[in-house]
Amino acid sequence: MRLRVLGACGAWPQAGQACSGYLLEHDGFRLVVDLGYATVPQLLRHVCAEQVDAVFVSHGHPDHCADLNPLLRARALRDDPPPPLPVYALPGALDAVLALDRPGMLAGAYELREVTDGGAFDVGPFRASTRLLPHSVPNAGVRLTAGGRTLVYTGDSGPSPDVVELARGADVLLAEATHVDEVPEGSRRHLSSARQAGRQAAAADVGRLVLTHLWPGTDPAAARAAAGAGYDGEVAVATTDLVLDLR
Ligand SMILES: [Zn+2]
Repeated sequence: MRLRVLGACGAWPQAGQACSGYLLEHDGFRLVVDLGYATVPQLLRHVCAEQVDAVFVSHGHPDHCADLNPLLRARALRDDPPPPLPVYALPGALDAVLALDRPGMLAGAYELREVTDGGAFDVGPFRASTRLLPHSVPNAGVRLTAGGRTLVYTGDSGPSPDVVELARGADVLLAEATHVDEVPEGSRRHLSSARQAGRQAAAADVGRLVLTHLWPGTDPAAARAAAGAGYDGEVAVATTDLVLDLR
């Protein structure tokens, strides 16, 4: 399984960057996990729009799903549109982004597949299972296994035993870490710090921790150090074009 980071900015994309988006490839199958602001231009540097085989979206915040619209336009408006794109998301999560264009314009471009808390399903060669994790809107963390390797992605989530359960023994935990140390009072239940991500990575005994969704302007070294305080394994910070081969 290969992970390529398309973007990893929390909240809004910085110059030349993108918000949350990850291309996962295994056996020639291309699954895009989240399509935040500005991820499609990054994606198209590596694959054509019609080469994407499936999309999974963790939740309906635009820094995680806004670029579903340009991806669907790039498929639907071709002279020879590809088959509908399977899009996995929680019920209602994509209502807003799917309403951007006039009714029906993109209807043939996608096939919505609703996911449920604790549900398990196959996406091409990937075995997927989901778990609702605490955020300000419903958010599905996902555990993806292919070729004997497992990656777990939190979406956006406050600290929770459910994160640890979902991530148990994974090769890679791709964890939202909007803040370094302290999460502001109003967000404490809905977002995490790098320090908390490190503790949860240790509790879940994961092979590697990748921090993502850092607030724009955050010092990545500070985030790595905060995570490393509670976790002995390798800690990386996701940035556009970071590639990890899980084998
Ligand atoms: Zn969010």
